[in-house]
Amino acid sequence: MKIKVLDTTLRDGEQTPGISLTASEKLRIATKLDEIGVNIIEAGSAITSHGEREAIRNITSEGLNAEIASFARAVKIDVDAALECDVDSVHLVVPTSNLHIQHKLKKSKEEVLSQAIEASEYALDHGLIVELSAEDATRSDMNYLKEIFNSGVDVGVQRICACDTVGMLTPEKSYEFYSELSTIKAPLSVHCHNDFGLAVANTLGAIRAGASEFHCTVNGIGERAGNASLEEIIVSLKTLYGKGQNYTIEDNGSSIYQTDINIQELYSTSKLVSRLTGVYLQPNKAIVGENAFAHESGIHADGVIKNAATYEPIVPELVGHKRKFIMGKHIGTKGLKNNLDELGIKATDEQFKEIFEKVKSLGDMGKCVTDVDLQAIAYNVLELKREQKVKLEEVTIVSGNKVIPTASIKLKIDDKDILEAGVGIGPVDAAIVAVKKGISDFADVELEEYHVDAITGGTDALIDVIVKLRLGDKIISARSTQPDIINASVEAYLSGVNRLLEDVK
Ligand code: MN
Repeated sequence: MKIKVLDTTLRDGEQTPGISLTASEKLRIATKLDEIGVNIIEAGSAITSHGEREAIRNITSEGLNAEIASFARAVKIDVDAALECDVDSVHLVVPTSNLHIQHKLKKSKEEVLSQAIEASEYALDHGLIVELSAEDATRSDMNYLKEIFNSGVDVGVQRICACDTVGMLTPEKSYEFYSELSTIKAPLSVHCHNDFGLAVANTLGAIRAGASEFHCTVNGIGERAGNASLEEIIVSLKTLYGKGQNYTIEDNGSSIYQTDINIQELYSTSKLVSRLTGVYLQPNKAIVGENAFAHESGIHADGVIKNAATYEPIVPELVGHKRKFIMGKHIGTKGLKNNLDELGIKATDEQFKEIFEKVKSLGDMGKCVTDVDLQAIAYNVLELKREQKVKLEEVTIVSGNKVIPTASIKLKIDDKDILEAGVGIGPVDAAIVAVKKGISDFADVELEEYHVDAITGGTDALIDVIVKLRLGDKIISARSTQPDIINASVEAYLSGVNRLLEDVK
């Protein structure tokens, strides 16, 4: 059975608090969603603003394969706004619970019903595909819900959707609820919110009950606790309803439920959306979190190296992710060996033992050892002297409430003095911009992630900066701990750069 995917990430992350994507960011995400095989993209809510309509028009004029939809209330002005944007369809939403009808709309049920049908007919008359959607459906009277849907189907709406607006379903209730609605003569869609962390489970329950389309967002972003997450549903459908752990890319189609989604692009899609929305993921986020395939403890890492299936439900490459071994107090010899191999460091048994002890004792102090730390430890033990290609000689910052943050830097690269300046949004940004310019002739290093922590409580706290840098397809992390946030940021960045350049040689 083929399941359609309607992605609502672009409706500003289904109204994730604080998110407002620009038109070009929306277009980038829409293009990616289209590339990975999303069937229907809800590009926004056309009535919202002039800028929103512009953003939706940008997407509709791109000629993507996906059907492009606008959110609309069951009112003429919303449908008109959608028409202005040249969308293929409207996600036409009517509240159906007494709570919403009486307290929000202050209308009668009859009024809401006739409004829904009028708006549906109006949209259909103007050539739009209509997905008639019941808001707060799971807290509505079932007879009324069916009456609205059946009346919609009678006038020709192409799909119906029942929303679990405040995430009140359980997987069992979801199965029963959508089973009952699946008797209506139109394709049924499920829209679940994650207030109890059950959005994905409830969506799967609905699909099992006969829903042939599901609504989702990338990374599960959305208002309050978010929506059902695209990647979790897709991977569940492909593996848990298919060949389980033995699932391989070649098995595409072995699941009872198929979708058009290219599973290998899930991680890169997640990264793109988190970068553009600024909503970063918890490390333990299923499927796409940074720790989803990370192993630290000795027993686990040992098992994974012998046979990854021991502690991984799918291989990370299936979703375009990567396995990694974290170095901390739980690290075992196998995991450490693996990391040293990746750094190209060959140690004798005795040297290895010493490196192992050092990493363990840093772990005991609560420190997580980054690649750069490990390399420093290892080089130290191996008594190798590291020649730093890029050295920081000076950094000067000008910042304040009336000036544009500006940084000037002096670097020594292979005994050559390099002077550069940069401006930024703040002093750290300015300093990194200047450093980037300084090394631009030597390497095109991208800053993938920047993370800062104050170790102690006061304004004189020690600042711990961790950066993740990319050069080509090589990614490394580096860290610096100093009282000054600018020095810490520049030092972490440069230590990462030096490591990357070393590997290039
Ligand atoms: Mn919603």
